[in-house]
Amino acid sequence: MRVAVIGGGAGLVSLLDSLLPRAGELAAGLEIDVFEPGDLARGGAFGPDLDSALINLPNSAMSIRDHERGHFADWLRRRGDSGDHDVSFAPRRVFGDYLADQLARCRAEAEAWGWRITVHREVVVGVSDVPGGLLVRGDEARRYDQVVLCVGPGSAADPYGLAGAPGFHRPYPLSSVLPRVATRDRVLIVGTGLTAVDTVLGLLELGHEGPITMASRRGVLPGVLSPAPHRRLRFLTPERVAAGVTADDIWELLHAELAAAGVDGETETAWLRPGASAAGYLRHQLARGNAVQSIFMSVPTPLAREIRRTMPGTPRLVARYRPQLKSLQCPMPAVTARKLLAAMDTGQLSVHSGLDAVRHEAGVFRTGAGLTADVVVDATRASPRRTTGLSRELLAGLPATWDAYDALRVDPVTCRILLPSGAAHPRLSAMGELTAGDIYYAASLPAVNRAADAVADDLAGVKA
Ligand SMILES: Cc1cc2nc3c(=O)[nH]c(=O)nc-3n(C[C@H](O)[C@H](O)[C@H](O)COP(=O)(O)OP(=O)(O)OC[C@H]3O[C@@H](n4cnc5c(N)ncnc54)[C@H](O)[C@@H]3O)c2cc1C
Repeated sequence: MRVAVIGGGAGLVSLLDSLLPRAGELAAGLEIDVFEPGDLARGGAFGPDLDSALINLPNSAMSIRDHERGHFADWLRRRGDSGDHDVSFAPRRVFGDYLADQLARCRAEAEAWGWRITVHREVVVGVSDVPGGLLVRGDEARRYDQVVLCVGPGSAADPYGLAGAPGFHRPYPLSSVLPRVATRDRVLIVGTGLTAVDTVLGLLELGHEGPITMASRRGVLPGVLSPAPHRRLRFLTPERVAAGVTADDIWELLHAELAAAGVDGETETAWLRPGASAAGYLRHQLARGNAVQSIFMSVPTPLAREIRRTMPGTPRLVARYRPQLKSLQCPMPAVTARKLLAAMDTGQLSVHSGLDAVRHEAGVFRTGAGLTADVVVDATRASPRRTTGLSRELLAGLPATWDAYDALRVDPVTCRILLPSGAAHPRLSAMGELTAGDIYYAASLPAVNRAADAVADDLAGVKA
């Protein structure tokens, strides 16, 4: 069977690792062509960069294997790294080393099974149906029995159209972008999510001395990852959701869960309201944990999908509360929060809400609220559907359907993309951020690992 995998990052490594135990079912063998013009194995997230850029889940939760969550932590131990590998957060470049190592192992094992893996350093610009297969267009057109899309996240969104202005930067890799910022420059970071946090930490690591401002419409920072984020939910259960829920019901159920955990719901949720102090919220979470986040993280993905599918007005609510939802679902390690807080306490770092415009005039960036900066770093991110990055042309031409959250719709069991008719495509699957939409934490490694297993199961059952 000839398979094309488009995108050679963490998703590819996880997929190969999932395919190998199914080699018995794939007796006819596989010819796998990987299309990746960039950083093979490391993808967009885990390339060489500053050590301040950490993985955002503990080592013990980052793995290429769904059934072996400690695989990366064990790899670190075997490498002889010191430290507590289960609870700490490695630099992302170290996770990239692990991915590169695992890709080499998978390739060797695949060759031992007689599979052929070829890497094409090409950007794929189109995938289309042809009789008996799919045509993948890169530098040349090639025919495959099956195609898997693992193209990763979207590009920076540049909401104020500043690209090309002197002093305007996209953040990655931090190690080549941030040294271009002069030590005393006033830096405005557009966005207050994890990418913005990466940028602040990178500037601090490089000894930046000038003022740093993080700004977005709502000014909500990522929450602080709770040490023990998961708990058994007593009220927000599949049975309760199956009976039908409104937004008010979810709010009440959340408060009931908080009360059961001995936490006052009003106090906890007040931190997510407009105008709450960013520093105060960090301090609160570092001292008391984040009970709301623990509850959100404990909602199983199928139940979250069911709520999204059935709750009246969900797309509107999600659009309205997106920053708060992202803050809860894309948290940062406590060690990172402490560094931010220290910079806030010295007055070097400030967080602003209400950002609605940034202009570049006479060599200076100016916001609608009158903040000025020498440098702007765009820490926003468009959904893959709206990306201007590598996969733009490819995604625009797919016979795909998208949900209200900009997620490519796929069959939840096989990850095959759903056609406008509602049927699953017989040869085309997708995994990763593309299928997650722009709100849920479904693009993280654990979700990618689960999708890799689903695609591998499906391919192993497929006859070429
Ligand atoms: C900065 C950053 C940090 C992150 N940190 C974490 C983290 O700590 N923990 C976590 O769980 N998740 C993290 N994520 C989410 C992360 O994207 C996933 O966990 C993981 O990288 C997903 O793997 P992937 O293969 O889907 O995407 P990627 O690893 O990004 O790989 C996608 C690849 O597709 C290639 N590609 C795109 N378009 C085309 C095309 N048209 N033709 C050919 N190739 C193409 C790209 O070059 C890229 O290498 C992070 C994301 C980012 C952006």
